[in-house]
Amino acid sequence: MAELIGAKKDDKIIDLMSTRPTAFTSLEFYPPRTSEGVQNLRSRILRMKENTQPVFMDVTWGAGGSTSDTTMDLVKYIKECGCVANMHLTCTNMDPGLVKKALSDCRRYGICNIVALRGDAQEGEGEWKASEGGFSCALDLVKFIRAEYGDEFGISIAGYPEGHPNAITVLKDGEEDNLSEKEKLRVSSSEKDGVVTKCVCRDEDYKKEMEYLKLKYDAGADFIITQMFFDTDVFKNFCDDCKEYGIDCPIVPGIMCINNFGGFFRMTGFCKTRVPEDLKQEMIKRKDSEAEIKKFGAEFGTAMCMRLVSQGAPCVHFYTLNLEKVVYGILDGLGWTKELSSKLEALDSDANTMQAKGSAWARVGDEVTSMFGKGIVEELRPDGAAKIKISNWKLANDQDVFAFLKQGTFKKI
Ligand SMILES: Cc1cc2nc3c(=O)[nH]c(=O)nc-3n(C[C@H](O)[C@H](O)[C@H](O)COP(=O)(O)OP(=O)(O)OC[C@H]3O[C@@H](n4cnc5c(N)ncnc54)[C@H](O)[C@@H]3O)c2cc1C
Repeated sequence: MAELIGAKKDDKIIDLMSTRPTAFTSLEFYPPRTSEGVQNLRSRILRMKENTQPVFMDVTWGAGGSTSDTTMDLVKYIKECGCVANMHLTCTNMDPGLVKKALSDCRRYGICNIVALRGDAQEGEGEWKASEGGFSCALDLVKFIRAEYGDEFGISIAGYPEGHPNAITVLKDGEEDNLSEKEKLRVSSSEKDGVVTKCVCRDEDYKKEMEYLKLKYDAGADFIITQMFFDTDVFKNFCDDCKEYGIDCPIVPGIMCINNFGGFFRMTGFCKTRVPEDLKQEMIKRKDSEAEIKKFGAEFGTAMCMRLVSQGAPCVHFYTLNLEKVVYGILDGLGWTKELSSKLEALDSDANTMQAKGSAWARVGDEVTSMFGKGIVEELRPDGAAKIKISNWKLANDQDVFAFLKQGTFKKI
């Protein structure tokens, strides 16, 4: 990659946005855990770039800097492919020196767009921690980048239309009857062992969230990328609230692609995301067929993106989960591309080679197969080992059976 040193600087995304009269596409990828996974993703990034012409592509940064090298390699690759890269950078749970190194590497390679984030703890590490002698929140990182580098970097920040999960609290009995109209729109519910738990970011906590978002914006952020949501009214309210709080910048909706039943409910449960009842019911109807879920994911995503664009969203930013099908289905549905989905079907053998080999692509919620038969990944560890709930076995009293398997001993279906 030495050839990129001293490379031409990328345009800033905020400047590119101002030259686009109509909504456009952007894509987010995460760094795979194995070199084979990275190789597969590189081919996919190039193909998706050619097929969808995104204005920018994001690569996430593993909590605590766990993927720093791979993230950097992938953003350099995106630049080589002729697209603008938007590199995520977290600042807690890691040595502040790593933040400084990442920024100076970006500067050397002409990568000029950063998503400035606080980050969470790595899997299995419990709560997030401020880095010693360094950063305690994304605001610190935005201030640091502006202080050290002036306006050399374009900066985007995370926004949470339903409130950050830390600001979302469980509703006690009877409280649901006394919610404000805005709170009602942010209520989420999840079910475990038949017990339904309802949560909400209360208005007073939401106010603190917005005040803090304003601080990040004032410190020099160019635009906001939102956490996933599935109710476009929530996004509309959030955009209106940003205006009310003086946050006057583009707000990019993060579109989580619906690819898989288990993964969808695990992720929305973890992030305390509101899942409207009709969406939940449509998912349940299709729970036994991943193909049907993906088909529905494309239809639902199309309708959602149409509404967002009509509400004035500058672009649709896909959380691709490193997969193509649903993104293509949505873009075809929007009429922004033609017959990409069928082109992918024709390339099916190629698409299959992109799928899981070993654990490279398996994520929490994915269905996998192993010597114990089919199962669902419950937890992935930093070394690639996984806790898998075995589908066909039960113990007495209907207890689940779990297997702890090393990387390479299970395979995504
Ligand atoms: C678009 C997007 C991309 C992401 N990409 C990644 C990624 O690549 N890697 C990764 O590990 N994680 C990523 N995350 C997850 C993110 O790191 C977590 O959600 C994390 O818990 C918070 O990060 P933040 O940047 O929003 O934090 P912050 O902006 O610092 O805020 C976190 C919470 O703390 C509160 N808070 C913080 N400081 C203050 C203060 N001084 N006063 C009052 N309230 C305060 C905020 O209101 C908010 O509730 C992403 C999230 C989003 C929405």
